[in-house]
This record gives sequence, C-alpha cells and structure tokens, in this order.
Amino acid sequence: MKKIILVVLVLMLVGLLLVLPNPQKEENSKFKIVTSFYPMYTIAKSLSAGIENVEVENMASNNIGCLHDYTLTTSDLKKIETANVFIVNGLGIENFSDKIIETYSNIKIIQASENINNLIIDDEEKNAHVWLSIDKYIKQIENIRVELAKYNPDNSENYKKNAEEYISKLKDLKDEINNKTKKQKNCLSFSESIAYLAEDFNLEIETIETDHEQNGLSAEMLAYAIEYVKENNIKNIIIDKKTADNNAKTVANETGAKIYVLDSILSGPDDEQSYINIMKQNLKIVESME
Ligand SMILES: [Zn+2]
Repeated sequence: MKKIILVVLVLMLVGLLLVLPNPQKEENSKFKIVTSFYPMYTIAKSLSAGIENVEVENMASNNIGCLHDYTLTTSDLKKIETANVFIVNGLGIENFSDKIIETYSNIKIIQASENINNLIIDDEEKNAHVWLSIDKYIKQIENIRVELAKYNPDNSENYKKNAEEYISKLKDLKDEINNKTKKQKNCLSFSESIAYLAEDFNLEIETIETDHEQNGLSAEMLAYAIEYVKENNIKNIIIDKKTADNNAKTVANETGAKIYVLDSILSGPDDEQSYINIMKQNLKIVESME
C-alpha cells in the first residue's frame, strides 16, 4: 500500500514538473546571434525577421559608431558569453576579436567580409567599410546566411527566404540610385568610409583624411584641401555624420563650396528597413549636390 502511494506521489510530481513552465529552458531554446556593431546588426535583424526561436543582440550600443579603435567592455563580453554565433565585419574593424577568442575559445565567429574585394587605403590598410557598397553588402548577407544555416540548420529555409526578400529590395534600391545619379559629381571628402558610397552614387572624390576623427588635421593638409577645391572648381564637400565638421567648415569658408553630410550607417534605429531608409536619405542629399 505504501509503495502504491509513493508511486502515485512520484507520478504527480513528475506531472507537475511537466506542466510548470520552465523559464530557464525557454531562454536556452532560442538561437542567439550577437553582432559586433550596427551594420552587421541590420543584416542579422533582416535575416531573422519573423523567426520566433532566434534572437539578435548588438554588442556595441546602436549609437557607438565605427569600432575602429574600440575597447571591449565587461558588458560586451557578457553579451557574447551567451551567444551561439558572433557576427563581425572583419577587415580589421574588430581588432578586439583576439581577446574574444581568448576568453571564449568555443565561440563561433562569422566573418561577413570573407572573399569580398575591398578598396585599399595604402599598403598596410584596407578600407573596411564595405557595407556601404550595396553589392558588397549583398555579398555580406549571403556570407552570413550560409554560416547561419550551418550553425542553425533548423532555420536554414527561413534564413534563405528572408535573404531573398531583403536582397531583392536592395537590388531595387541600387537601380533607383543608378537611375537618379547619372551625372557624375565632383567632391572633396573628409571620410574614408565615403569611398564605397562614392562608387554607387557616381561621385568623383578626393579624400583628405583617412580616419574617423579629423580634429587634428595639419595646416599643410588643410591648405592642400583648399587648393584642391579651388583648382578643380569643386562645389561639394562631404563629411560623414559621425565626424566633426570643423575642417570642412574651414575649407567651405575659404572656397564657397557647400558641406553635405552623408550617413555611413554606423548607427540608426532598431528597424529591419533601416539600411534601405538611410541609403534613400543619402540619395536625396547626393541629388541635391551641384
Ligand atoms: Zn571605421
């Protein structure tokens, strides 16, 4: 008799455990993607749109800007600790990757820029801002999709469907840009990240500074910039949204050229369409140039 009561009690307990929600399990059953910074976040968000058991988190906050010269924080490492995959742009932007691999030797890192041709700044340095070329951004999407399907095969069809939809919108965007930028425009640029945008937007650019911060531009470089604008009769000076405008203002004052601010998509809203929306905004600005 005692035995029967015990069996019944055990069965009831097992039943209760099965019925009770287990928050720990719920959490762990999601495939977690962590991205290094905003451009990668826009891709991961689009690829995982509508997939319930996938979550995406951006390591750096959405407004941090480019990760060139970035130092990891403890909260960054905490986010990566629970990630199934970590997506990076590569090409030297995430110089802290070594530290991550050192800390989490099992981490799966997806390199978005694998096998993508990049512009060279000089012998030593590659221009890593490839997401600003729509064609190269599409290649990044494809690279990431293939790797996600490998690590999360259950959702491979979902990733494929989302990638196809997103890429088709991006191709429409590229056509729209091509149609509206038939006339080449000459510009002086104060940001290396503009180089890829310039190709898509039919801009002929001379780039003065190769770094995100250009407060400390030498008098010599500034004089060169002014001379270049005057000699080539340039009407447009481009700066990136994230860079200071003091040097551009000096050149504009000396030459009468106008300053235009383009967005390198280093930050933005938490929204799957944000890359396309920002590019359309850039297109309007380029159309308004002389
Ligand atoms: Zn950068």
